[in-house]
Amino acid sequence: KVSLNQITREFGSVIAVSDITFEIPDGEFWVLVGPSGCGKSTILRMIAGLESITKGEIYIGNTLVNLIPPRQRDVAMVFQNYALYPHMTIAQNLSFGLRMRKVDPVTQNRRVESVARSLNIEHLLQRKPKQLSGGQQQRVALGRAMIREPKAFLLDEPLSNLDAQLRDETRAFLKQLHGQLGITTIYVTHDQVEAMTLADKIVILDEGKIQQIGTPQTIYHRPINRMVATFIGSPT
Ligand code: ATP
Ligand code: MG
Repeated sequence: KVSLNQITREFGSVIAVSDITFEIPDGEFWVLVGPSGCGKSTILRMIAGLESITKGEIYIGNTLVNLIPPRQRDVAMVFQNYALYPHMTIAQNLSFGLRMRKVDPVTQNRRVESVARSLNIEHLLQRKPKQLSGGQQQRVALGRAMIREPKAFLLDEPLSNLDAQLRDETRAFLKQLHGQLGITTIYVTHDQVEAMTLADKIVILDEGKIQQIGTPQTIYHRPINRMVATFIGSPT
């Protein structure tokens, strides 16, 4: 599980994130949505350890991670501006995290093949990143993060650079991969459709505060206030 207990982050006088509490059970896929500046990225960055916490506690599993450095948190994060290692092949990019952890080569190959198959990039393994399309590269970035089976997967608008068709395709791959691996996932997006199709639970944020947490059904049919209704496009 991943849990946040009364998390606040202030930047000087700006309260970016205010008193956020939720607990994501193992294996669930949660989506954070809300207008620009509402604190989505800051929340992910605090979970990853890339941003310090002003107040509150974050747990990954049963471990309080507030003081644990990013590399030891066993979470993987993928951004909008993913970067692959340009001089390595796709296979080497995928297995990078496993090599760092000294996973044996046979297991490495097995995992690379399995992830490549799920992402439909098996035929690209010997190429270099610049020989791939943007969508293919983004799939490699997702695969590279997932391959070491982290305790949690943090995705900050990972598809927003892609055109509509590639976005649909990559979203489907992501969903399938999540189904196979069952890694607890927190996904940040501006896109209401993306939230509705991917989420077990949606967290709606505004000005650093939680407005509502619920299933896509509940959020859509029973929005708790006007902000949520307008944002999610509920029927009036
Ligand atoms: P977007 O959808 O545009 O990516 P977001 O929901 O991810 O927005 P955050 O990046 O988390 O929003 O920012 C939340 C608030 O915190 C904003 O008001 C932002 O200006 C402020 N903020 C974020 N990082 C810093 C920083 N390093 N210094 C000062 N203020 C910051
Ligand atoms: Mg952001």
